[in-house]
Amino acid sequence: MRQGAHADFFYVRPTDVRADRIFIVDQEWHLLRVLHRARDGQRFLAVDGLGHCFACELLRIEPDRAEAKILQRWERYGEPRVHLTIAASPLRGERFDLLVEKCTELGVSMFIPVRATRTQPWASDRLQRWQRVALAAMKQCGRSVWPEVAQPVSFAEAVDAFPSSVLRLLAHEGEDAAPLASLLKRVERNDVPQVVVVVGPEGGFTSEEVDLARSRGFVPVSLGTRRLRAETAAIVATALVVAACG
Ligand code: SAH
Repeated sequence: MRQGAHADFFYVRPTDVRADRIFIVDQEWHLLRVLHRARDGQRFLAVDGLGHCFACELLRIEPDRAEAKILQRWERYGEPRVHLTIAASPLRGERFDLLVEKCTELGVSMFIPVRATRTQPWASDRLQRWQRVALAAMKQCGRSVWPEVAQPVSFAEAVDAFPSSVLRLLAHEGEDAAPLASLLKRVERNDVPQVVVVVGPEGGFTSEEVDLARSRGFVPVSLGTRRLRAETAAIVATALVVAACG
């Protein structure tokens, strides 16, 4: 089970990792037992959401948990070099689910739901749902970091939340926005690049918001001449940033 080899990944809670043993519980135990019909001695990969991946051998399946022995462990398994935050307005229907799923697959480390002027209201139970979407996407694509879905913040809080060491980008389809690719040359030079991309709601940013972001050190960046759906913009920006970081 080398890094990158095709395999199913199971989630293990960090508190269920002990010395050379892990315990798989709840939903993951169910998946292992029922869906994968796992048997004693079977090998599988488990990730703890904090960047660790364990190659394991199943010792026993108990009525409420499975115990496995750790054979090998990796740090930052399947993780990109860049720490990328997407701060975006929640979207109607399932479009934000799509954003979280795809951006997690591509390597985003954190999502911040942002209340901008034109953001539509969203139900409070969504946060947990997005967190679950991120967990499923992490396992699906073989990452070891479970991206955090932060508590929602206002637009003003979002553009104030990052120090100048972070490359701060505002996805903006305005004519005065620089092409994202030109900005990314800076990312390639950095050692541990940290990047945040703020993406607007369906109605876009107000000009006051663009001015505020600029005054806080954000650079408006363009993803091309076409007006993209917000979730498309987030996915494309993520792909470009992660690709630029190798
Ligand atoms: N202002 C728009 C639509 C906004 S699209 C309107 O006229 O209704 C939603 C968000 O996606 C934008 O706020 C921006 O963050 C991002 N976005 C869409 N197309 C983009 C592009 N070509 N370049 C950069 N960002 C884009």
